[in-house]
Amino acid sequence: MKKKMLQFLNLNQTTPVKREEGERKKDFHEIYKDYITDKAEEQASRCSQCGVPFCQVHCPLHNNIPDWLKLTAEGRLKEAYELSQSTNNMPEVCGRICPQDRLCEGNCVIEQSGHGTVTIGSIEKYITDTAWEKNWVKPLNIKKEVNQSVGIIGAGPAGLACAEELRRSGYQITVYDRYDRPGGLLIYGIPNFKLEKFVVERRTNLLKKSGIKFVQNFEVGKNKSLDELKKNHNAILIATGVYKPRKIEISGSNLENIFPAMEFLTASNRKGLGDEVELFDNGTLNAQNKDVVVIGGGDTAMDCVRTATRQNAKSVKCIYRRDRENMPGSSREVANAIEEGVEFIWLTSPKKFIGTKKITEVQVNKMILGPADSSGRKKPEIQENSEYNIKADIVIKSLGFDPENLPELFSAKELSVSRWGTIKIDLNTMQTNIDGVFAAGDIVRGASLVVWAIKDGRDAATQIQKYLKGKNIQKEKTKAA
Ligand SMILES: Cc1cc2nc3c(=O)[nH]c(=O)nc-3n(C[C@H](O)[C@H](O)[C@H](O)COP(=O)(O)OP(=O)(O)OC[C@H]3O[C@@H](n4cnc5c(N)ncnc54)[C@H](O)[C@@H]3O)c2cc1C
Ligand code: SF4
Repeated sequence: MKKKMLQFLNLNQTTPVKREEGERKKDFHEIYKDYITDKAEEQASRCSQCGVPFCQVHCPLHNNIPDWLKLTAEGRLKEAYELSQSTNNMPEVCGRICPQDRLCEGNCVIEQSGHGTVTIGSIEKYITDTAWEKNWVKPLNIKKEVNQSVGIIGAGPAGLACAEELRRSGYQITVYDRYDRPGGLLIYGIPNFKLEKFVVERRTNLLKKSGIKFVQNFEVGKNKSLDELKKNHNAILIATGVYKPRKIEISGSNLENIFPAMEFLTASNRKGLGDEVELFDNGTLNAQNKDVVVIGGGDTAMDCVRTATRQNAKSVKCIYRRDRENMPGSSREVANAIEEGVEFIWLTSPKKFIGTKKITEVQVNKMILGPADSSGRKKPEIQENSEYNIKADIVIKSLGFDPENLPELFSAKELSVSRWGTIKIDLNTMQTNIDGVFAAGDIVRGASLVVWAIKDGRDAATQIQKYLKGKNIQKEKTKAA
């Protein structure tokens, strides 16, 4: 079959790489690694300082992008770092994994005029990586501790950002997490090729050095109820993320070698961290030499196909019921996956899983897109008599995540949740319906982005501080009366 020639641009927009469609990329460095760092100043100077900083508006943290680009262009990296870290607790993380094409870079005026965006994410990463290298990143030095403590449930980006901001103001902070390592999805969800684990560990170690206590392998609901934990602290933040995988209810779902995405990704991340993972080592959760089928079209599905490719799978196919234009994930991630040889089968939906004990094939239906539904997206409909089978040794289900049943899990029946199971908060105070209990991140928004979790964590810190100060004033008044 004649292959179509595709052209891919590196992030620095200067050296196009020509590759055949379906041809496997030989090295699997993430795309930001192609960025030539000694060109950072040159790249930053491409910012026209347009005066209408749509990039800043569309960054959830409203990072002062034009100013730190200007400082970088002038070679004033330390000042650029100071400015960048003043609005973001993990600039080097966001620089690596924000879907910039949908946020800052997608709204760059230069991009809009057809000249290719200033590579804001890469420069943000470069500034902070340089700061780490040069030892400019220091733990917090707390001169005077406040005699109030906050318990944070969940060591993901929302919990960590809140912890750092409150600690900066002197509060005593304990972060509880059911995993053995802090970081949440930064450590066990997002693959190493997008976000190296040392980058996350370096951050969490800094927080430990800043005096924040971490209690790992501690599951609220199992080790202590919410009410018991509340007794140990003056305020609580719930930042537990969303982890319940959405199911596919089709025949054959109980066959062996059909896995939820997080099981596959966690095994791979644990291997990358040097852990012994029996199910990976015995081949069960290892895609090597296997025909892999991933079901879903979001960013997690892209992480699964790209992880399977890196594990030297024989073939990797991604089936998605809508077309490429209607995929929910970042278009850049899809382009990366195609570049690495993943085969996309759009407008296709699984009908049944086939096999005796283990999965051997997925029977699928072709789909057509009907009129838009209430969400505004075109509704996929089954095409009559369109079934065919796709060979599969492993199937990875990646259909999104829902919240766990927290009121039940936390033995806190009174905790108010939405009909989707996300925690309801007062949008002004970020407080739940329980006095002194706040919530932030995915558990409030539903599955979202790291940069939004950081923003929510920072906002929660502001609100918790207000609440605690109010409590202190109340106490003083009662004492005086
Ligand atoms: C595979 C994958 C890839 C992703 N890739 C990207 C990406 O490239 N870019 C991007 O911006 N976003 C990405 N996301 C989304 C992003 O990771 C999340 O939006 C973000 O991590 C949410 O942060 P959080 O702090 O709310 O929750 P989480 O990061 O999920 O952290 C929650 C923490 O709470 C802990 N916890 C849960 N329940 C309990 C309990 N009962 N007791 C104690 N601890 C508990 C968990 O162990 C976890 O450590 C990805 C998500 C997934 C699943
Ligand atoms: S935090 Fe994300 S959206 Fe904001 S400037 Fe950085 S890469 Fe862009």
